[in-house]
Amino acid sequence: KYRRELQLRKKCHNELVRLKGNIRVIARVRPITKEDGEGPKAANVVTFDPDDDAIIHLLHKGKPVSFELDKVFSPGASQQDVFQEVQALITSCIDGFNVCIFAYGQTGAGKTYTMEGTLENPGINQRALQLLFSEVQEKAADWEYTITVSVTEIYNEVLRDLLGTEPQEKLEIRLCPDGSGRLYVPGLTEFRVQSVDDINKVFEFGHNNRTTEFTNMNEHSSRSHALLIVTVRGRDCSTGLRTTGKLNLVDLAGSERVGKSGAEGSRLREAQHINKSLSALGDVIAALRSRQGHVPFRNSKLTYLLQDSLNGDSKTLMVVQVSPVEKNSGETLYSLRFAERVRSVELGPGSRHTELRSWSSQEHLELEPACQTPQPS
Ligand code: ADP
Ligand code: MG
Repeated sequence: KYRRELQLRKKCHNELVRLKGNIRVIARVRPITKEDGEGPKAANVVTFDPDDDAIIHLLHKGKPVSFELDKVFSPGASQQDVFQEVQALITSCIDGFNVCIFAYGQTGAGKTYTMEGTLENPGINQRALQLLFSEVQEKAADWEYTITVSVTEIYNEVLRDLLGTEPQEKLEIRLCPDGSGRLYVPGLTEFRVQSVDDINKVFEFGHNNRTTEFTNMNEHSSRSHALLIVTVRGRDCSTGLRTTGKLNLVDLAGSERVGKSGAEGSRLREAQHINKSLSALGDVIAALRSRQGHVPFRNSKLTYLLQDSLNGDSKTLMVVQVSPVEKNSGETLYSLRFAERVRSVELGPGSRHTELRSWSSQEHLELEPACQTPQPS
């Protein structure tokens, strides 16, 4: 009986994916800040299309270039506006789906602001957990859920557990021995969280672990990928049906290119590792989007770790962070090209027009209840 229910869920979900594709790429442009300075170098070079919120225009070296993504957030967009866009994705892990949200862009473009945010104005990470708490609360009559989090970083292709007692230790990624093809990380700490208080404690613990070893935390954080991995395990109280969904929230290393002349030694090594893993991520997403048979997951730690949250019926959102000022226009061009490359892979007949532009909760709800509520047999 349970197998039949699961098959039904899967079928419904595959239909959803067929309709709209499971990878979306959006851009978020940060406001101009004091740090951008003054004068022509700090002039705004990014504009928007008043009639189409998927278009962004960039003036690079005096030449206009336009890009089409799934959606573009201008500097006026609030944390809540951005969260609204990703909400449906997040709740889908309650129904057993795996989700990845990446913040991509050069250092200073707003990746950490979008993912972590500030104390007064938290970003996706905290809002996601709060949303999960309230959603599982609502289902508490029929389902039992546990929500756990892991905090890790990947630096120079080394994976570290930031919630462990020995954060210096390197972690390995292994294939599950059960033959399911899933991956796991032996020794990775998972903390159960039940309240905002718990989240704050976990974040603080992870943050402290991350900072102690490095003298310049800002530099370090811009050269490593920071991952918050949320696992939602559910059990239907009446049928015993179990679901597991994983939400991976990733603040990527800065995408800025390091000139050959400018970097030596450890700085060059870092740059090579970052470059390799970001292009591996781009390759994997492009391969998944174009439904290629071979997806090169193993080319980086990041894509290997996230393999089972990127493939199959998983959902991915890439938030490309953009600085609006002239002095960054070269990097902005590069980031938007990356975004477009990842996104513009053909999705099959009709491409964009058959592909629905957002996972709105409405669409989600239309299909989900039938999949999710097991009928007594
Ligand atoms: P990154 O993580 O990409 O290096 P940050 O998130 O640290 O960049 O952002 C750089 C600076 O810009 C920070 O001071 C941050 O508070 C500010 N900032 C970024 N995005 C926004 C935004 N949408 N609204 C207000 N301030 C922002
Ligand atoms: Mg950052």
